[in-house]
Amino acid sequence: MTIWFATGNEHKRQELAAILTGYTITIPSDAGIVFDPAETGSSFLENAFIKATVLFEAVHEPVIADDSGLCVDALGGGPGICSARYGGDDGGKLTPSERNALLLKDIAAAESAGRNTGNRNARFVCAMVLLLSESRFFAAQETLEGEILNEERGAGGFGYDPLLFLPEQGRTVAELSSMEKNRISHRSKAALTIGKALEAMYNR
Ligand code: IMP
Repeated sequence: MTIWFATGNEHKRQELAAILTGYTITIPSDAGIVFDPAETGSSFLENAFIKATVLFEAVHEPVIADDSGLCVDALGGGPGICSARYGGDDGGKLTPSERNALLLKDIAAAESAGRNTGNRNARFVCAMVLLLSESRFFAAQETLEGEILNEERGAGGFGYDPLLFLPEQGRTVAELSSMEKNRISHRSKAALTIGKALEAMYNR
């Protein structure tokens, strides 16, 4: 069975496909659909609904959408829903490493301005929605808790993974294998719940 996933991010598709085994995960670009909805919501959940609704209106089939990001205590929960475009307004589109460097700079600035006293706690958050029709949906939101390091560590994953250290694992997210990340990540935990809803719907 094919399920649409409202993303242009190939890493996210692979992570979802590893959880929802038995489903073919199709993303808009597979079908030549231009998909770039304005993420105007004020929460991860609102943005996930916006993405799901925009794709549902194009395909009229069950759609999964997620919205995710990194929430850093020292930055008052930022970059949060702005994680993908963090630093983009001033400096154009940054590479992931440039974005990570900016994050560290902003945390250091918050510390020297006295707005933070060494709290490095942070979490990935993922809201995920399964939209079955205009009036039927399931939603889940999950987190992966960690601490922000002072430098990148590890070459796996994507985005902010090299900066988020997981005390229980003794490694950053980027130092985990994709299988290890999929066992504990914010996205995979949300996807597990959504997968159960799919199973219930389609008796699989
Ligand atoms: P979205 O595609 O609008 O959900 O934006 C997600 C952004 O949050 C990504 O571009 C990354 O910057 C960040 N992010 C979300 N999940 C992860 C993850 O698992 N690892 C690293 N960065 C993540």
